[in-house]
Amino acid sequence: MSNVRTGLVWGEIFMWHDASPLASVLPSGHGLIEPDEPAENAATKRRLKNLLDVSGLTERLAPIKPRPATVDELALVHERAYIETIRAMNAKGGDAKLDAPIGETPFGPGGFDIAALAAGGVLAAVDAIIDGDVRNAYALVRPPGHHAEAAHGFGFCIFNHCALAARHAMRRGANRVAIVDWDVHHGNGAEHIFWRERDVLTISIHQDSAFPPGSGPIGANGEGAGEGYNLNIPMPPGSGVGAYLAAFERVVIPALQRFKPDFIVVPCGFDAGFYDPLARMMLHSDCFRTMARMVQEAAASLCGGRLFLCHEGGYHKTTVPFYGLAVIEQLSGERTAIDDPFLPIAAGFSHQAMQPHQDAVIRAAEELVRKIN
Ligand SMILES: [Zn+2]
Repeated sequence: MSNVRTGLVWGEIFMWHDASPLASVLPSGHGLIEPDEPAENAATKRRLKNLLDVSGLTERLAPIKPRPATVDELALVHERAYIETIRAMNAKGGDAKLDAPIGETPFGPGGFDIAALAAGGVLAAVDAIIDGDVRNAYALVRPPGHHAEAAHGFGFCIFNHCALAARHAMRRGANRVAIVDWDVHHGNGAEHIFWRERDVLTISIHQDSAFPPGSGPIGANGEGAGEGYNLNIPMPPGSGVGAYLAAFERVVIPALQRFKPDFIVVPCGFDAGFYDPLARMMLHSDCFRTMARMVQEAAASLCGGRLFLCHEGGYHKTTVPFYGLAVIEQLSGERTAIDDPFLPIAAGFSHQAMQPHQDAVIRAAEELVRKIN
């Protein structure tokens, strides 16, 4: 076991993924959007990396060098026809909507290469954890992944990094993998990919019906062998620290304790943060730090600390870096001298304590945990 506890996947090339067609005038039924910066862009991620550097934390992490995922590796969760279509678009960029019910995942020239390198970085991180080179790891990559489905890109995502991480961990010997998706939007990709499987527990805590619309209701629990092994916690808009931590204490952690995974994967979005433009929750950096600690402690007691986080959403460029710093400080056990200047603002909001209508959702989710064994 290395002395360095936490691995970091990073590459400037990931910041060159270009989702800008989303910000332009789009054809076919999307109406007219005045060209502007797309919501998913490099700023939040690059600023997080800059803060890691300036704080001195980067040098206390183990760099994990990304390598391109092969088509066979991407096919662990994606249909080959979809992979080949994206690859064919590589030189000129493209629009990967491919039968998506809504939305699309545009990318610029070289988009396949960048997305495959991000996926390969994720696989390298899983290898580093399983090989004992690091205890846990964080992949700060673009494009994000958790909305990507087996047969099409979706919601800024091309390849589903966390689903790939789960499959790869199983290929490397894990018998059971848990995915804890705390991005504020529903983790639809992993839910569908593992819908009929009981060896991968998929948990998503998200803003009720924020994105995809109507996706992620509490009653969607998997089917066949997978029945009971998909858990949605659809929190009402306006949920704050009290509701989220109660959901972790009463649902997420007990579900992990019952499931007993060999490996834990977290699609780590920061868009439940209080300034996020794409959601309406109220979390702050201490809450993200505590969520990371709770999952980390579960990993320590259940699976030798094997824990992988992959950066997903989070669209407010001045606050997201402080959330990411807090999480990576927690993972690594290293504390920097940086204080989050936004923490007192969000901590002082009224209604940060759990409200009765939020408690009702958590109570309903608690009932589902008992089906896991
Ligand atoms: Zn999101």
